[in-house]
Amino acid sequence: MLKIGIFLFSNDLRLEDNPALALACREMDKLVCLYCPSQPSTKTRVRGPGKLSHHRLHFLQQSLQTLDQNLHSQQQHLLVREQPLLDAVAELITLHDVTHLYRSCNAGWYENHEWNTLVSRYPGIVFQQKHSHTLFTQDELPFELSDLPTSFSKFRRLIEPITASPPTLRPPSMPPSPSPEVASEFLKTNIHEKNSCTFEGGENAGHQHLNSYFSQKLASSYKLTRNGLDGMDYSTKFSPWLSNGCLSVRSVIARLRDYENDIESNDSTYWIYFELLWREYYQWYAHKHQSALFTFKGISASNPNTSFYPQRYQKWCHGNTPFPIINALMHQLNTTGYMSNRGRQLVASCFVHELNLDWRYGASYMEQQLIDYDTASNWGNWQYLAGVGADPRGHRKFDLNKQTATYDPQSEFIHRWQGHTKLVTLDSVDASDWPI
Ligand SMILES: Cc1cc2nc3c(=O)[nH]c(=O)nc-3n(C[C@H](O)[C@H](O)[C@H](O)COP(=O)(O)OP(=O)(O)OC[C@H]3O[C@@H](n4cnc5c(N)ncnc54)[C@H](O)[C@@H]3O)c2cc1C
Repeated sequence: MLKIGIFLFSNDLRLEDNPALALACREMDKLVCLYCPSQPSTKTRVRGPGKLSHHRLHFLQQSLQTLDQNLHSQQQHLLVREQPLLDAVAELITLHDVTHLYRSCNAGWYENHEWNTLVSRYPGIVFQQKHSHTLFTQDELPFELSDLPTSFSKFRRLIEPITASPPTLRPPSMPPSPSPEVASEFLKTNIHEKNSCTFEGGENAGHQHLNSYFSQKLASSYKLTRNGLDGMDYSTKFSPWLSNGCLSVRSVIARLRDYENDIESNDSTYWIYFELLWREYYQWYAHKHQSALFTFKGISASNPNTSFYPQRYQKWCHGNTPFPIINALMHQLNTTGYMSNRGRQLVASCFVHELNLDWRYGASYMEQQLIDYDTASNWGNWQYLAGVGADPRGHRKFDLNKQTATYDPQSEFIHRWQGHTKLVTLDSVDASDWPI
C-alpha cells in the first residue's frame, strides 16, 4: 500500500533543520506540502487579532514564496489553501487516501487544539510531530515540562550546561506530490508596493541576513548596543526569520559558535545566547501553560487591577498619548512592523501602568502588527510586564521620563517618528458627566 502523507507547514517555513519534514521525506511515497494562512481562533482570547498588518502579511507571503521556490528545486510545491485547516485537511484526506500526517511541534494552544482534533477524528492515520522551533527537544530538557522553573534565572541555570544539537541539512530528495500544482492566489498576489519594511521574508533571505550580521562583526558589540531604538545594526534582527521559522534557532546558535571559535568570544556574543535562552524559556512556558497564556490573570492568582477604555486604547495604538516616546514608538511599529525590545517594554509598561488598560488588548494589537509575531514570545513577555506571568515579582513599571533621558537624550528618535502629537485630553468627558 502506498504511504501518502500531508506535511502541515506552520511557523517552520524552511527546508533546512526541519526534522519532521525530513522524517516525512524518508517515510512517504507521496507527500502534500500544505499551508493554511487561517486566522487564529478567538475562543481563548478576549479579542482575536484584527486584520494582519500588511507588513506582517508581506513578510509571510515572501517566506511562503521562497518556500515554494525551494520546494520546486526538489520537484515539489507548496499547496496554500485559504480555508480553515481542519476543512482543508479533511478534503485532502478523502481525495488522496492519506495515511500519515506530519508537523513541527507548536507552542500555540489553538494550533494544538486543531492537531488534537485531527488525531481524534482520524484514528486510522499515523500522526508524527517533532520539535523544531526550540533549541532543545522536550526530551532533552533537564526537567519535566510540568516542573518548568517559575523564573528565567532558574531555567537558565539548569539549561546552560546542556549543548544543543547541530542543525540538520535539508532533505536530499522529496517524495512527489500526489496532486498537480494549483496556483495559489495567496502566493501570486503581490502586496509589495504598499510595503515600507526593510526585512525580506524567506529562508534564503534569513541565511543572507545571518551571514551579513556576523560578517560585519556586529556580534562583538551586541551587549553595548542592544538597547537602541532605531536602525538595523544595534541588535541582531533575527526575530522575523526565527518567528516564521525561516531560520531555526539551532542554525543561529551554530553560526554564533563558529563566530566565537573563529573571530571572537566575549560578553556580547554570550549575551546573544542569553537572549535566545529567554526565547527558549517563553517557548516552554507556552507549551506548559497553553490557554492560560491568553487569560487576564495569566498564571497568577488574581486579576490585575486594570480595565478597558476604548479611547485610551485607540490613542495608544495610533501613537497619540501624553507620552512622546510612546507615540514615536507606536508610529515606528505602525510604519515598519518592527519595534526594538526596549521599545516594546516601554509601550507595554505604558499600556498597563500609565493607561491602566487590560494587557491582553495590547498583546493582540502587537500580534496583528509585528512581522516577528511569535505566540510564546509575545504573550509571555506581555504577561511578564503585566505582572501576571513568569517570575511574578509584582509590576514592571518603567519611568518613561527617565527612560527617554537614557535612550533618546537628544530626542532624535522622538523627532524622527513624530512623537509630539496634538493630544488634548486622554479621555473625552462630556460636560453632563460633571457634578453640578
Ligand atoms: C511586549 C513584548 C512583546 C514581544 N513580542 C515578541 C514577538 O512577538 N516575537 C518575538 O520574537 N519577540 C518578541 N519580544 C521579544 C523581543 O522584543 C524581540 O525578540 C526582539 O526585540 C527582536 O529583535 P532582535 O531580533 O533584534 O533581538 P535581539 O536583541 O538581537 O535578540 C536576539 C534574539 O533573542 C530573542 N529574544 C530577545 N529578547 C527576547 C525576549 N524578551 N523574549 C523572547 N525572546 C527574546 C529573539 O529571538 C531575538 O531575535 C517581545 C518583547 C516584549 C517586551
